[in-house]
Amino acid sequence: MRAVVYRDVNDLRLETVPVPRIGANELLVKVAVCGVCPTDIKKIQHGLVPPPRIFGHETAGTIVRIGGGASVPASRFKVGDRVALHHHVPCLDCHFCRHRAFAQCETYKRTGITAGFEPAGGGYAEYVRVMPFVLPGVVKIPAKNSFAEGAMLEPVNTVLKAVKRLALLSGDTVLVAGQGPIGLMFTRLLALRGMKVLATDLLPARLDLAREFGAVRVHCPSSEPQNPNPDSRQKAKLRKPKSSTTLHAPRLPPPPLDPQLSTLIHQLTRGHGLDAAVIAVPSDAVVREAQSLVRGAGQVLLFSHTRRGAETSVDLATVCMDEKDLIGSYSSDFLLQKEVARLVFSRKLDARRLITHQFPLAQTAAAIELASHPTAESLKVVVVQGSGQ
Ligand SMILES: [Zn+2]
Ligand SMILES: [Zn+2]
Repeated sequence: MRAVVYRDVNDLRLETVPVPRIGANELLVKVAVCGVCPTDIKKIQHGLVPPPRIFGHETAGTIVRIGGGASVPASRFKVGDRVALHHHVPCLDCHFCRHRAFAQCETYKRTGITAGFEPAGGGYAEYVRVMPFVLPGVVKIPAKNSFAEGAMLEPVNTVLKAVKRLALLSGDTVLVAGQGPIGLMFTRLLALRGMKVLATDLLPARLDLAREFGAVRVHCPSSEPQNPNPDSRQKAKLRKPKSSTTLHAPRLPPPPLDPQLSTLIHQLTRGHGLDAAVIAVPSDAVVREAQSLVRGAGQVLLFSHTRRGAETSVDLATVCMDEKDLIGSYSSDFLLQKEVARLVFSRKLDARRLITHQFPLAQTAAAIELASHPTAESLKVVVVQGSGQ
């Protein structure tokens, strides 16, 4: 079969590899659609994992074979079923799982879908092998829905999981910074829960869709907020402390605020400030700005800060004294799969609106290139095989 194999940093090759062999209680799925996800892009462009691998984990397709001895849960499927796959399922039994911290569970960290080599999702291949431990996350796609909608369950799941980390009351005001595919999912899910969403993005075309997805206000900042001037920070560090017993770091200047955005928030919240802010862009300056725009005891949720080791500065007194929580969310919660499937397949969250570009398997590298350098018009990019229907 054909597969796009990751051979080195930024080196993806279309190769012929064996169709995966399946064992008892495993599924062989013919891939129809696989979404391009930023977490795979990061691994490919920065060489974060050793090659060779076949990536792609937002996968939907058709079951073409079921491994012998099918017992529960494989017996709930039959050949010909159209399914959306889920590559991470936790054990539900370990210390992390008892705290519902599924993304930290050792079983969860194993990838249960492969097209060959070290399991890495395998969606950029013609067929994938689905292992028994991830079968509980596999969902059948209703006849009226497309494979592409099925492939969107995984990213929507990660967003719903994050939304559930926010302590919100209906009618609360939430800033969603960044209206890429993920930011737009946040906008929609928060609007469906009765929140007043204020959506921001540097690209006006995305704000139009944010409005259609339920944002009550949108705002296009004139420029990206800047981090404190690196020169002045450098100088502050080099300045000799007054005495060798000085315990405090140099004072941070307050973050520069976008005056239009501040006014909007003042109007929307009658001066209270935001109840929460979702940061769906990897910008530290936006985090600092949000930290000053949320009300006391509000929440700032990080969703795109996946680069380890980056130095940054946050005024920690805003966390301690102002009780503004800085929280994160990563990956999915498979117990939410049913709710996610209802949202997507009922089109309450119309995932079709988010897919702007489709590439054939042979052009997976181009798909990844576009997804990593989005244009004014591009949102979700997917790789499609056959008719993709
Ligand atoms: Zn993903
Ligand atoms: Zn576990």
